[in-house]
Amino acid sequence: MSAAPAGAPGADRLAALGGTPAVARRLRAAHWPVVTDLDRRAVLDVLDGQALVSDTNGETAVSRLEDRWARFCEVPECVAVSNGTTALATALAALGIGPGDEVVVPSLSFVATALAPLHQMAVPVFADVDPVHFTLDPASVAEQITERTAAILPVHLHGRPADMDALGDLARTHGLAVVEDAAQAHGALWRGRRTGALGDAAAFSLQVTKNLPTCGEGGLITFADPATAAQARRIRQFGEDIDPGRERRYLSHRLGWNHKMNAVQAAFTLSQLDRFADYEAARQSQVTRFLDRIGELPGVLVPTAPAGGSHAWHILRLRFDPAAAGLPGSAAAGYRKALHRLLRAEGVPVSRYQLRSLPRQAAIADRVGFGAGYPWAAATAAEPAPRTAVADAIIEDSLTLQKRHLAPDAGPALDAYADGFAKVFRNLDVVARMALA
Ligand SMILES: *Cc1c(COP(=O)(O)O)cnc(C)c1O
Repeated sequence: MSAAPAGAPGADRLAALGGTPAVARRLRAAHWPVVTDLDRRAVLDVLDGQALVSDTNGETAVSRLEDRWARFCEVPECVAVSNGTTALATALAALGIGPGDEVVVPSLSFVATALAPLHQMAVPVFADVDPVHFTLDPASVAEQITERTAAILPVHLHGRPADMDALGDLARTHGLAVVEDAAQAHGALWRGRRTGALGDAAAFSLQVTKNLPTCGEGGLITFADPATAAQARRIRQFGEDIDPGRERRYLSHRLGWNHKMNAVQAAFTLSQLDRFADYEAARQSQVTRFLDRIGELPGVLVPTAPAGGSHAWHILRLRFDPAAAGLPGSAAAGYRKALHRLLRAEGVPVSRYQLRSLPRQAAIADRVGFGAGYPWAAATAAEPAPRTAVADAIIEDSLTLQKRHLAPDAGPALDAYADGFAKVFRNLDVVARMALA
């Protein structure tokens, strides 16, 4: 741009044009996770005890966390592992998914969703997502099912449960396993049931940025069938069985890995669980208040909770439609870029999350895999071509607010972010000019 556009005068002058930012500096520090003395005590108690890993006989912080999360999700079993990615891979392995199998995954997710089937030598097949909820579009999934399909891997992306009724019907019709990627959706409800209880298995991440954090890396897997959970316990422990009250025998019964969780991680998460409901309540009220205001702005598509369920509000993704904002001449990407720049100048910490759809990630597109193209090279037939039209459009025209901006004490900051959005949308003439520049 050669000369800066004049824009509005006074308080409405955009920060990018020399005005005062809408978000005061003191509101810009974002803290997650919240760490209290109770968390510190829990970790130190583990260091003073004898049980640091999950292969210790008897009750440990790891086994207590497993029991508690199984009860919370109302499932028979939970198995703790080293992180959310190993949780996904272990769930698939426990269900017997491996070479020759295809697993249908969404085109829009964090890359681990597609890496997990590859780690089992299964081929990920990409279905498109719903343009409003960002979760697997059941119609697209139906088109991607072949005789090699073994599982559907729905992601409750950003905390919004996928359409588990329609996906469950498809799975039953075709005899497929369902593994939920619930890494972003702890505690979210679908028709009154928790994520984690909506398929054959579900993977949760406890990575420090997630809604239920540990002090580093961790993962939980929930299972509908105790026999599958028993396989997962073997898989995380070199293929061994650890029997309570009996000495370890070092007998390996199947291909396993070392995917164990340590007790420090478990104790920290157990302590966080004591406050999970309070944090959840704070998120529900302050995020709803924020979205009520943002939803009134022209051409802004805001996420919603499912009917009869809830959204965990891990990440907020907003889509921007220039035509609906009265700027039919703007291209979606240019308009989003202009909003990004102007909102950041106001102190609203919007960012892009996912710069490309999963099949466009080099790790997948290049098809190197384990070397020499495995697992793709070993498949008996080519898998269906990826469906990405909606995922690609979402990546072009949306911006996100991340977990740390939705922390329990973020209410005042979120109110200020809404002020920042309102100010930018009162200056749509500037946005339009910048979008064309
Ligand atoms: C974070 C995340 C994972 C992976 O979890 P890690 O604990 O980081 O390995 C998988 N899927 C989704 C959707 C995630 O957000």
